[in-house]
Formats: sequence, structure tokens, C-alpha cells
Amino acid sequence: MLKSSKIACFYLVFVLFSSVIQAEQINPAYQWSYQGDTGPELWSQLSADFSICASGKRQSPVDVYTQQFEYIYPLTFQYQPTKPKLVNDRQGLKIITSQQHYDEVTIANQNYSLNGKQRFNSKLKLGDTEYSLLQFHFHTPGEHVLNGKHFPMEAHLVHQNKQGNKLVIGVFFQNGPENPLIGQIISQVNGMDDKTNQNTDGLINFDMLLPTNREYFFYSGSLTTPPCDENINWLVMKHPVQASNEQINKLEQIMGNNARPLQPINWRKVIGSL
Ligand SMILES: [Zn+2]
Repeated sequence: MLKSSKIACFYLVFVLFSSVIQAEQINPAYQWSYQGDTGPELWSQLSADFSICASGKRQSPVDVYTQQFEYIYPLTFQYQPTKPKLVNDRQGLKIITSQQHYDEVTIANQNYSLNGKQRFNSKLKLGDTEYSLLQFHFHTPGEHVLNGKHFPMEAHLVHQNKQGNKLVIGVFFQNGPENPLIGQIISQVNGMDDKTNQNTDGLINFDMLLPTNREYFFYSGSLTTPPCDENINWLVMKHPVQASNEQINKLEQIMGNNARPLQPINWRKVIGSL
């Protein structure tokens, strides 16, 4: 009798434990999307980690508008052509701009490769603070709005400095001639064996994502996807770049609608660079 109740007790613990594991595996927090029960209006309810998506007062995207123009930090891009990695997930099409780097050690005249480390070669400087480009991705339609004007697509170039502070550059796309970089990305996606994750063949020159005129709007905002972390430095480029209608439609076909609705600006100031 005692033995069978012990077994029952173990069984109960086992059932409880495995249901906890299952709950972890099907945690709906990881199933956010852009529509329905897991769409942007409900992100904050999917996980305690996402609560700031609703309670935050410095959320993105916003309608970028200002009459305040100042000489602010000079912005210098030091992007290097790189063979990036393509990831196609629910956030959209993401291009990871790191390169695997192997440090070598020499022992008894033999060279040994240490474990691969991710190294980010492309940098930018805002004032004298250096940020590394981690990845860029696209939103169709564009997420930010420029004084009421909507764009069919927006690229986000995500950077981070040594202290872990994030800076995202937003670049609007408008219809025009074909964009060689977008063409390169589309042909890579078409050739992907694994439709979610692949190294690219050729070098990609990220400079081609940037408008020639580097004037920008600056404001403090958030990630536009869960967990919607705030304290993100947003630099939205004033001038759009171009891609053909067909190219933008193709990316929209691949990613679907992945734009978060506009968020209130509240007391925040947008400053335009001169
Ligand atoms: Zn984004």
C-alpha cells in the first residue's frame, strides 16, 4: 500500500513536471504575429516580457515630424562588403551581417583554430560613439510615416555599441528603378534550399541601402517587435531610396504584412539634422 502510494506520488510529480515542460514548449509568448489573436494589439498579453509593448510611452514606429532642426551628431558610415547570412522568420527577411572569425593559436610551431567567433565588420559612428551593424531587415509596408506620408517598404539597420545600446537606422523605399542590392537578396531567397536560414553566395555591399543624402531625424523609441524594448536610438533617414514596384511586391509576397501600427509620440521630441 505504502509502495503504491509512493509510486502514485512519483507519477503525480512526473505528470506535473512534464506539463510544465509542455507549457514551456507551447508558450504562446513565442507565437506573436501581425494579425488576429497574436497580433500587435495583443502582444502585451502574450507574455509578461512583452508588457512594455502596451505600457511603454516611448514606442515605435511613429509619424516622424518636426520643425526643430539642429546641428546634431555627425553620422559616419564605415560599412564593409560582407557575405551575410539570410534568415526568413516571422519578423520578416533578416540579413545577419556578421562574419565567422577564427582566432589562431600557435603551439609548438603548429597553428590551431579556436572556436569561431562572430565578428561584425560594418560600423557607424554617431559623434564619437562607434556602433556595429548586427543585421538589417525589411518591413512591408513601411512602419514609420514621414509627416503623414506612407511608404511601401522600410529597411531597419540594427546596430549596437560596446555598452549594448542599440541604434536603428530606418530607410524608406519608394517605387523607382530596380535596386541592385534588393535584386541580390531576392535571387538569394529564390535559391535558398532551407527556406529559413542560409549563407549567401556573394558579397553584399550594405552602403547601397543608404540614400546619398545622409540627413536624418532622431528620436528615442523602441523595437517595433516583441519584446518592444525601449531606449533605442532611432535615426530615420529623411530621403528615401528606390526599388522597383516588382521588387517591393516580391518582398511583400515573401514576408506578408509585417508592419506594426503607429504608436503615440507622447512628449518625445523629434530632431531633424541639418
Ligand atoms: Zn524592424
